[in-house]
Amino acid sequence: MLKAHNHSIAVALAIVLSSSMVHGQVAPKAPEPATLKANADFARTLPFANRDDFEDAMRGFIATIPDATIAGSGPRPVWTMKPYDFLKQNEAADSVNPSLWRQSQLNAIHGLFRVTDRVYQVRGFDLSNMTIIEGDTSLIIIDTLSTPETARAALALYRQYRPNKPVGTVIYTHSHADHFGGVEGVISEADVSAGKAQVLAPTGFMEALAAEFVAAGTAQRRRGQYQFGVFLPPGPRGYVDAGLGKRNAFGPVTLIAPTGTIDKSTEKHVIDGVEIVFQLVPGSEAPSEMLMYFPQFRVLDMAEDITHNMHNLYTIRGADIRDGNLWSHYISDAIETFGDKTDIVIAQHHWPVAGQPRVVALMKKQRDLYKFINDQSLRLLNHGYTSAEIAENLHMPTSLEQEWSARGYYGTLRHNAKAVYQKYLGWYDANPANLDPLPPAENARKTIEYMGGADAVIARARADFAKGEYRWVASAMNQVVFADPTNRTARELGADALEQLGFQAEAGTWRNAYLVGAMELRNGMPKVPGGNLAVADTLMSALSNELLFDYLGIRLNATKAEGKTFVINCMFTDSKQQFVLNLENSALTYVKGKQASNADATITLARDVLDAVILQRATFADAVKAGQIKVDGDPSKPEDLLSMLDTFQTMFEVVEPKPSR
Ligand SMILES: [Zn+2]
Repeated sequence: MLKAHNHSIAVALAIVLSSSMVHGQVAPKAPEPATLKANADFARTLPFANRDDFEDAMRGFIATIPDATIAGSGPRPVWTMKPYDFLKQNEAADSVNPSLWRQSQLNAIHGLFRVTDRVYQVRGFDLSNMTIIEGDTSLIIIDTLSTPETARAALALYRQYRPNKPVGTVIYTHSHADHFGGVEGVISEADVSAGKAQVLAPTGFMEALAAEFVAAGTAQRRRGQYQFGVFLPPGPRGYVDAGLGKRNAFGPVTLIAPTGTIDKSTEKHVIDGVEIVFQLVPGSEAPSEMLMYFPQFRVLDMAEDITHNMHNLYTIRGADIRDGNLWSHYISDAIETFGDKTDIVIAQHHWPVAGQPRVVALMKKQRDLYKFINDQSLRLLNHGYTSAEIAENLHMPTSLEQEWSARGYYGTLRHNAKAVYQKYLGWYDANPANLDPLPPAENARKTIEYMGGADAVIARARADFAKGEYRWVASAMNQVVFADPTNRTARELGADALEQLGFQAEAGTWRNAYLVGAMELRNGMPKVPGGNLAVADTLMSALSNELLFDYLGIRLNATKAEGKTFVINCMFTDSKQQFVLNLENSALTYVKGKQASNADATITLARDVLDAVILQRATFADAVKAGQIKVDGDPSKPEDLLSMLDTFQTMFEVVEPKPSR
């Protein structure tokens, strides 16, 4: 059984968070007049009198635990809503966009909810929801939150109010960690090995989760600190919400590999007396994802393809672009197939909607939301507009703009429009002045010099700041900082501008990014304990041999590999798979299913031994000595290869230039 932990990440985060906001850090500032006006104006544009979402979010409420506080192994709770008491105030704080404030209140609701007979949800115990279906003799759990502590607490709450049945089935809707990471809180490896529990997932689940978090995993994690405001303390001038849910839980991720997958586009199963129609939706919100319809209950679970916000076609932590056209088609298919026989639509984030006409109305809005972004961005792109121009000029039709479920709390129209451009045309806008410009620091030095030097630029930027031109001031100060990162005045003015943008942002993700940028300009990068915390390493045992070798290729330092050539045969004793690894031209390639006759060395070993050596938990030489690796030929070649692998550090500069290392 494949299994992976990343306790190291959780530990590192806990350390940082307990010491965050230490003495000497610059505190957030107050909203400026231009921000007060922007937020007040914003409040007048949207239908705040419509409170349907609050009713929907509370329907079927049974009970909860105080403040949803869930203890972890350390002093800091893994999860708690207590720090968000400030959201109980009905009027939005003047440092928070009023629309985001409303969404943040909805995402602060927590507890066990009865969706309908035999269908329950625990919401507000993590970023995502746990759905619990009562089988005849066992429970079917759809998604297990992101960490075992929150999952265990969610199930315990359910069991306090419902008959105690064992968990017989876990279903992962898709390959994102907030949907599987808590699995060991509801079942164990032993349950699965003993055949007491099964785990179902959409086809390609393991490959998708490994691939998404490996190749660019280290950079995505650092960028994710911006998207999710990982180091921001909760508060009206700090962390408010992620849009999609309150925030990420601070615990370890676990994984039990699926024992079965849904492979056909539609499959009907009966699990412990519960009929389920599975519909695969690969390449929508995740590369591997599926929806479920429950005919007995007239309930449709849209996984993460329908939520109460605009989702991401591009996620600002960085990831592959998602296909808005495909996403819309899947929703359209679901309306056609299930729309007339669904009384309640649920999802793995946010709250259900009940009543067949309301269900279809929501689905249609979401269908059109993604279709609109996709098609209108393509229309404008074919008129020759570039991505920044499209983002600036595209506006939602009023019918969608006034719809709370279509608001950009997680994705935004602007960055999603750019995603469509990127999907079809890529980064280049076809203007050769932008084909090969100077890199950021050099560009900034020349620009500031031409503009009359840093002091002149700062003086003019101060005047623009007073006028509320925060987008421009942030951009101008970014240039000064990239020309000279030690310019304290520029850092502070840049931080002030980013902060005001954060206070105005409707998207939780944008607010987080702006406020983290401000924090790092003021205080420098958070001090995170050293070492490589890449998801790639912590999920390493979940990687196929091919993905592992691809990952080693990414870590190969080209300078160290310069001029080196060798061939290594690799034989795995567990899977019996064979590979030929080839190093030449500073590229590591492999061929599966054969052994080379001219190899410099042949190594025979179990996969977990290779993982341990790569993770530096054991040295190659020691593993050879212990008889765990058998080497025929020249043992210096595999050792040489290992010595050429880079180790990635979690933290790197984002809002300032990287020092030469
Ligand atoms: Zn999710």
